[in-house]
Amino acid sequence: MDQFTPRLGVRPEYPPLRKIVVKSLRPYVRDCVFAVLILAVVKPIDPGRLGERLCFAIGTALVHSTALVLLALPLSVCDRFGLLSQYKLPRKPSQLAPPSLVASLVGEVAVSHLVTTPLAAYLFFPILKAFGMPAFTDVPVNVIKHIVFAHLCNDLGFYWSHRCLHTRLLYKHVHKKHHAFAATVAPAAEFASIFEVVFSNILPTVVGCVLVGSHVLVFWTWLFLRLQQTYEVHSGYAFSNTWVETPSAATLLLAQPESVIEHDHHHTVNRGTFGALWLDYLCGTMDAFVAAGAYDCLGPPAAVS
Ligand SMILES: [Zn+2]
Ligand SMILES: [Zn+2]
Repeated sequence: MDQFTPRLGVRPEYPPLRKIVVKSLRPYVRDCVFAVLILAVVKPIDPGRLGERLCFAIGTALVHSTALVLLALPLSVCDRFGLLSQYKLPRKPSQLAPPSLVASLVGEVAVSHLVTTPLAAYLFFPILKAFGMPAFTDVPVNVIKHIVFAHLCNDLGFYWSHRCLHTRLLYKHVHKKHHAFAATVAPAAEFASIFEVVFSNILPTVVGCVLVGSHVLVFWTWLFLRLQQTYEVHSGYAFSNTWVETPSAATLLLAQPESVIEHDHHHTVNRGTFGALWLDYLCGTMDAFVAAGAYDCLGPPAAVS
């Protein structure tokens, strides 16, 4: 079934634009705050005899694996032992991944971290330098501008490539693999065909930093934030009304429960909500999400079943 433009016969009324703008700006602010904090601590590195290209390949693989260990694996442990279940979005037994699929995921994650990422980083590095990546020993500049641009490019690149993957042919031959997980778990973010990994994951993530010639530390910081986002939205854990997500102005911005609910709806219902909320809103691809009550399940922890 072609789901490129999944509109309902009777279209629901979308939320007011003001709400969409506020919700959409939040991840940009969050990433900028974290990037500035991280880069205030991390200092430029001298690759020495290793050389910049090899240092970039190793460093990129380390960032990738660090995100997995710090973010995806703890949430998988919670899944395994039923911890924090009050925050887990509802799953039907038929949506849970069979052991054979979980075993495939473990193999794919291992290949991705040990082979695909360091190899892709090594091969891509000359392109980053050609577009102006400064020397590793330089101090990063224009951090906020670069993070905002990288985020914007990723929003556009991921939304459109992902939406194209929902055309009949590309879904059948490429994207169906990623949707094998109806009820996703954090590491399932990486369960996809190599075509999808390159064109819908790697390219949208890196294109902004490449085009503006970001410093390697800005690139790694942005990569870590992007990985945090994709692991969380695939985890099925919507941490709302907790210490990590309060509605106050002093919110710590650590969790993104609304994005989790959007992407969880995409996997469990598979009708729209392709990516950034503002793009689904502007392009009219969130009919099923709005009709289902959108964020209704965001409430006090006690109300989440
Ligand atoms: Zn999809
Ligand atoms: Zn997904």
